[in-house]
Amino acid sequence: MAVPQRRTSKTRKRMRRTHFKLTVPGMVECPQCHEMKLAHRVCKNCGYYKGRAVVDTE
Ligand SMILES: [Zn+2]
Repeated sequence: MAVPQRRTSKTRKRMRRTHFKLTVPGMVECPQCHEMKLAHRVCKNCGYYKGRAVVDTE
């Protein structure tokens, strides 16, 4: 079985983990209000989808 020749240092481990993102994949910025929203879904902040209001927001 292949075994790592040397142990991964704390720094290398942490550098690799800088690419771990906090946001779930599929989160995109709403073009209307620039809030984060789920892709292919109506924005829950402003109720917009494809450039027009779909859901009424007070
Ligand atoms: Zn929005």
